[in-house]
Amino acid sequence: MDGPTQLLIGGKFQDAVSGKTFASINPATEEVIADVAEADAPDIDSAVKAARTAFNKKNWRNMAARERSRLLWKLGDLIMEHADELAIIETMDNGKPLFESRNVDIPMAAETFYYYAGWCTKIEGETIPVPGNYLNYTLREPYGVCGIITPWNFPLLMVAWKLAPALACGNTAVLKIAEETPLSGLRLGQLCQEAGFPDGVVNVVPGYGETAGRALVSHPDVDKISFTGSTAVGKEIVRTSAETLKKVSLELGGKSPNIVFADADIDAAVKGAFNGIFYGKGEVCNAGSRLFLEKSVHDRMMDKLLEKARRLQPGDPLDPKTRMGALVSKAQMEKVLGYVRIGLDEGAQAVLPGGRVGERGYFVKPAIFDSAEATMRIAQEEIFGPVLSVLTFENVDDLVEKTNSTIYGLAAGIWTRDIGKAHTLARRIQAGTVWINAYGSLSAESPFGGYKQSGFGRELGRYGIDLYTQVKSVWVALD
Ligand code: NAD
Repeated sequence: MDGPTQLLIGGKFQDAVSGKTFASINPATEEVIADVAEADAPDIDSAVKAARTAFNKKNWRNMAARERSRLLWKLGDLIMEHADELAIIETMDNGKPLFESRNVDIPMAAETFYYYAGWCTKIEGETIPVPGNYLNYTLREPYGVCGIITPWNFPLLMVAWKLAPALACGNTAVLKIAEETPLSGLRLGQLCQEAGFPDGVVNVVPGYGETAGRALVSHPDVDKISFTGSTAVGKEIVRTSAETLKKVSLELGGKSPNIVFADADIDAAVKGAFNGIFYGKGEVCNAGSRLFLEKSVHDRMMDKLLEKARRLQPGDPLDPKTRMGALVSKAQMEKVLGYVRIGLDEGAQAVLPGGRVGERGYFVKPAIFDSAEATMRIAQEEIFGPVLSVLTFENVDDLVEKTNSTIYGLAAGIWTRDIGKAHTLARRIQAGTVWINAYGSLSAESPFGGYKQSGFGRELGRYGIDLYTQVKSVWVALD
């Protein structure tokens, strides 16, 4: 590993104050890839101070929007220039196939910076026709220091979704990247320096959630926290941030329904159901982890889906031909295997039993539970692995009640050739994203986020600009 392993604070890579490090492990081999500096409260404090200083400095504060735009674009270019290297880092750290990291994670991260590069020069206020002889107008201003806390499943991409709009709006950032996958974020920090962002605009401080993450959320000089991760930690962040009333946006977990009607293009639906749960090893917030089948199409769908799923074998993530890698960590593998046992105990039918593959590396096979009930834990709780719960429905009212019966509301898929039915159902499902005859499509232009306990705030698109700016109303008496 040639990339940086120290904390990036104020433009300089440095050890943690404590001198402590933690191991970043390749989940496919269980080998240590690198020992990474472990940030704790004193390092977070230094990083916040560096970010505050950078925010107040003229070279960032007064930088012309078009200059900021060029920096973001340059960063996108640097990501693409180093795409092969970044994809290998991501694959070694997370266990996802190179096929995914090279073709999806890295180019999408670059695309997010390109997209928000365009926004820098388009962040505008309004003039408002108030009564009386006044000029009233609004300014859209950055918050200041943004604390960004990200998960391990799309390490670089999740940083990009937050960092790109935060910088486009003129904020500075402290990134607390996930402890399981710190390497791509550190390399990104180095690329930010190379792109020419002033020192302290981007600070990268990997460390544990309980220590570094909590210190960032409770720090009085952080203006905003943008978090992606589990719903449990999201709640903890809201509680901790309440003390300083930080602005908070949250992208949390999901238990998303993928719904197939009998009139669907069945081959397309099978592909959508398969990718919906097995892409990214199922460690995907919007995984289609509940497959709802209209009764009359159940057997046909299951035959085809099982045939496809049986052929999916986990393998070496660095092999370009591999389509399923290793789960991110031992803890995650145990959680997933634990849910398979729960499904069996609950009486769901394990038509594909899953299970670990080999003894080295955290490889597990796909698991599919048929005849699941909407109330079962495997149909209610986020498993975050390649485990699919299959449910059936008789009519749309029954379906809507079941699909909306979890605490989550991140995404949903609908497969039907009946346009009216699809659009009507799209309105009735409580989810921040609905795909019709598609599953999992995402783009920097289109908002993403959750209903209910899947979070609040919308990332991407113009909504990303709202998340990283605050509005000031200015009144001018004209006489
Ligand atoms: P996690 O919540 O355990 O950790 C996420 C991040 O929060 C990590 O950086 C961690 O160190 C930090 N953290 C943990 N405890 C903290 C605390 N008390 N204070 C501050 N920070 C703390 O989640 P994870 O296991 O890394 O990621 C998986 C979860 O992320 C899943 O639930 C998944 O659905 C969710 N996710 C959601 C989206 C989305 O867009 N909605 C995207 C990706 C992942």
